[in-house]
Amino acid sequence: MAFKLAEKSLSVSIKNSLLTSVFLLLLILGGVSAMTKMRLTALQDTIEAVGRDRLPKLRALGEINLLVARVRSASYRIALTATPEQRADVERAFNARIATLDQRIAALKATLKDGSALKLIFEQFANKWTQYGKYQALILDPELAKDRLRYSEIVNVETEAHFQGVVDLINDGIKLANQEADAAIDEAIAESKFDSLILWAVNGVSVLIGLATLIFVIRDVSTPIHRITSSMELIAKGHLDADIPYADRSNELGLMARALTVFKKSLVENDRLNAATRTLSELSEWLQSAKSETELYDMISSVLGRLMPECKGSLFIYANSRDVLEVATEWNGKSHTASIHPEDCWSLRRGHAYVHGTSEIEFHCDHVHDGVNDNYCCIPIVAHGDTVGLLHLEYTFDQSETAEEAKARFADRARLGHACAEHLSIAIANMKLREGLRDQSVRDVLTGLNNRRYLLEMARRELLRAERHKTPLSVLTIDVDHFKSFNDNHGHDAGDAVLRHVGEILRTLFADDAVPCRFGGEEFVVLLPNTDMDEAVARAEALRGKIEALTIRYAEGHLPRVTISAGVASFPEAGGNFTELLRVADDALYRAKQNGRNRVEGPDHALPDADRIGDEAVAALATVRSVKSESKAA
Ligand code: GH3
Ligand code: MG
Ligand code: MG
Repeated sequence: MAFKLAEKSLSVSIKNSLLTSVFLLLLILGGVSAMTKMRLTALQDTIEAVGRDRLPKLRALGEINLLVARVRSASYRIALTATPEQRADVERAFNARIATLDQRIAALKATLKDGSALKLIFEQFANKWTQYGKYQALILDPELAKDRLRYSEIVNVETEAHFQGVVDLINDGIKLANQEADAAIDEAIAESKFDSLILWAVNGVSVLIGLATLIFVIRDVSTPIHRITSSMELIAKGHLDADIPYADRSNELGLMARALTVFKKSLVENDRLNAATRTLSELSEWLQSAKSETELYDMISSVLGRLMPECKGSLFIYANSRDVLEVATEWNGKSHTASIHPEDCWSLRRGHAYVHGTSEIEFHCDHVHDGVNDNYCCIPIVAHGDTVGLLHLEYTFDQSETAEEAKARFADRARLGHACAEHLSIAIANMKLREGLRDQSVRDVLTGLNNRRYLLEMARRELLRAERHKTPLSVLTIDVDHFKSFNDNHGHDAGDAVLRHVGEILRTLFADDAVPCRFGGEEFVVLLPNTDMDEAVARAEALRGKIEALTIRYAEGHLPRVTISAGVASFPEAGGNFTELLRVADDALYRAKQNGRNRVEGPDHALPDADRIGDEAVAALATVRSVKSESKAA
């Protein structure tokens, strides 16, 4: 009974089990006392019965026995010794004694239970005693006593057998009365033996009840309290992985264990928050050292993914057009939205973080997919007063949590998200600033192409790569023809417009891994990795054709067409370093100018054969002439 109650309320169980034990023990004690009392009374009754009932009978029987013997011996004395004068008095006294004896016999007979064995024996005795009366008369006869021989015959033989029968019967009675008393005492002893057996059994039961109570107290009270206290101690010492037993019980121990579980959870959360804060400041440090936006976003997804494993997250960044935010990175699962319009998100519209699922009044953001649960949040990433992006977190439910627990945990994650967003915004802003500065230092403002500094940097890297991988690399040097006079004729602004258009064509034609740059003034250089001389000449030719065909609208009219000249040099044929390559390409460009402009020239040996032969012929002719004039002089 006590063990079942343990599942309800422990204090009630303890109270009930103790009350039950005390009640049962009192009941047993009361029972034992009552039984002992009863047994004592029974024993007393037996003793009283034996004393009050049987002993007087025994005494009476004994007295009758004695009186009978005395009557017989008195009758001898009277017959043998009484003188005739004394006789009348002696006989009167003797008869009085006989009468007393008869009275005693009658009185005893009256007290005996009808039908009892003792009464039957006593009646036989009484009859036999009555019959003995005639022998008594013989013994009392003085005449007979005179004949001593005859008298001796009468006393010792004729009456003795009958008298012995009388004595035997009274002795039988005494024996029977004794036996009855013994039997009564034996019966009382047997009964008390049985009662003591019952007392032993009852004692055994009380020991069992005591043991059951002890087991209950050990199993359901002291052991659980000890185990829960040990867990408490471990948790207090910082072992947050300590197991908390009995949380499934519905009694106070269960309540205690569950309260401890909640406490442990909050400690774990606290621990996690501390760790998260530490990680965040570390993250901040790492983010500052990211060398590109891609690397920065990779770092963010990897760290936030581990920091908030129960949240699916994405980082959106404003596109350059500023009309849409695009996914820069995501973690713990793919997001359903690749881009967001600013008006689709309540946080961007209201200008501050929006935690959905925590307030009475709330509306779903349009960018949030239908399948997403209520617990999500959007946190704008604001750097230097400018919103650069959005951190979006969706809470993934853990089956073991209740809705309340999930809500609390999510609110906590949202707070952490907020802290993250601040660190991210600084890192993103710094990265953008750095990229902007770098962009400014390597980009030409007029054409939007990279500048000479960038070209030199890239050339060094690409040459090393070409050397290592034994791949070709070509350089184009490009110069706008007669640009000085163009400027002179149409103005510097028109010249700028031409340069802008040339820059744009370069950007579109060399959008692959080629590196087009404005080298200075109206000169451009294109670095062509993995490109040999023939391919480079072909690409330069394509560029030349495109620019030749270019018409530029300017000041409500069209500017005259411009042309370019280009020189080509290739690694490794033209030289091993960039200065050499550039010199060879410049030489070729010079030749292109020399040969009439709007053309592409390769290295020297690529000159048309006719020119080379012509030069050789002129040289040979000069030699011949000098030889001739020498011979004339001679
Ligand atoms: P060619 O190259 O065909 O031999 O003749 P050219 O007239 O182009 O020769 P030169 O190199 O002497 O002239 C370059 C001119 O380019 C000089 C300068 O006025 C002009 N120029 C250089 N930079 C700019 C610029 O940024 N804007 C404009 N509008 N003109 C520039
Ligand atoms: Mg020039
Ligand atoms: Mg020029």
